[in-house]
Amino acid sequence: MTPLKRPWIRVLVGAYRVLVLCMLVTGITRAQPADDAGGWNFEDEVEVQPTLLDLAKEQAPDIVLFLAFATLAMFSFLRKSVPLKYVTLVASVLYMGIYKSQLISVVNIFGTLTGNLPLFAHSMAWYAFATFTVVTTVLWGRVYCGRICAFGAFTQLIDAIVPKRFQLEIPQALEQRASYIKYGILFGAVGYYLVTHEIAFYRYIEPFWLFTFDATPVLWMLLGALLVASIFVRNLYCRFLCPLGAALGLLSNLTVFKIKRWSECSQCRLCEKTCEWGAIRKRQIIKSECVRCDDCEILYADEKRCPHWLLELKRKARGLGIGR
Ligand code: SF4
Ligand code: SF4
Ligand code: SF4
Repeated sequence: MTPLKRPWIRVLVGAYRVLVLCMLVTGITRAQPADDAGGWNFEDEVEVQPTLLDLAKEQAPDIVLFLAFATLAMFSFLRKSVPLKYVTLVASVLYMGIYKSQLISVVNIFGTLTGNLPLFAHSMAWYAFATFTVVTTVLWGRVYCGRICAFGAFTQLIDAIVPKRFQLEIPQALEQRASYIKYGILFGAVGYYLVTHEIAFYRYIEPFWLFTFDATPVLWMLLGALLVASIFVRNLYCRFLCPLGAALGLLSNLTVFKIKRWSECSQCRLCEKTCEWGAIRKRQIIKSECVRCDDCEILYADEKRCPHWLLELKRKARGLGIGR
């Protein structure tokens, strides 16, 4: 008896032939042009690609909302209006934070360094946001930190309601040294990313996920500790730990429109004591630490509180011979 004569081999060979036949038939059917498909004449499906204008129209509400928010922020900044600044901070938490959950992040720095950024056609509002951040930083410094960033706005609002007696004054030498930690975190994170191409760790160095309310118990515990510490140390995360703040700080060394100072600022320390960001040393403004919060600029223009104006009045009075 030859092997083929065994019944189970015949069954196997038969099954194999049926399988090959099925594959051939399926392949041929797939290769059939549409108008030969069983006598039916289907029209080719034409996929219409949306134009850039179509995509812009689709994203228009997002872009308009961001531009409205940016206008409010810049209006409050240029007018040095304290009430409008707080309106902007609340809007930042509600709109940029809770509604959009859109913040510039250290991940965008990784993307910029490796050319891995969102597609423009689908992310126009994001590009408006990123362009606004870079342009305002070059023109005025860290306006983004002082007004736009939802996490910074959130901690500034906490500061505004925490009684001053809880807040610790950090010695200047310690504050200065601690401000370098954020640069260490920035360069460490960029170096780690460039070597490993891993980004999952960024949630441990940026608490911006807060507005998505989506995190592990460990992250929530770390955030809780950070927020409790922020009650005692003003703007703790922004001043000492934020890698994005460090990057914007480096960029803000290019600031075009600098904060003005009087010659009297060398002796007067009123602004230095007022600055909650540790960004003033006598007459000098440390651009990388300043978030353009307006506090010292309001003092600068205050004719009743700033000694420059009081001295100016005296000089004028002497010039007129009043009180001689
Ligand atoms: S320092 Fe960081 S967290 Fe603070 S406002 Fe700036 S970007 Fe936001
Ligand atoms: S209060 Fe006036 S003089 Fe004093 S530091 Fe501020 S701007 Fe200068
Ligand atoms: S007080 Fe002046 S120097 Fe300090 S953060 Fe505000 S704007 Fe900058």
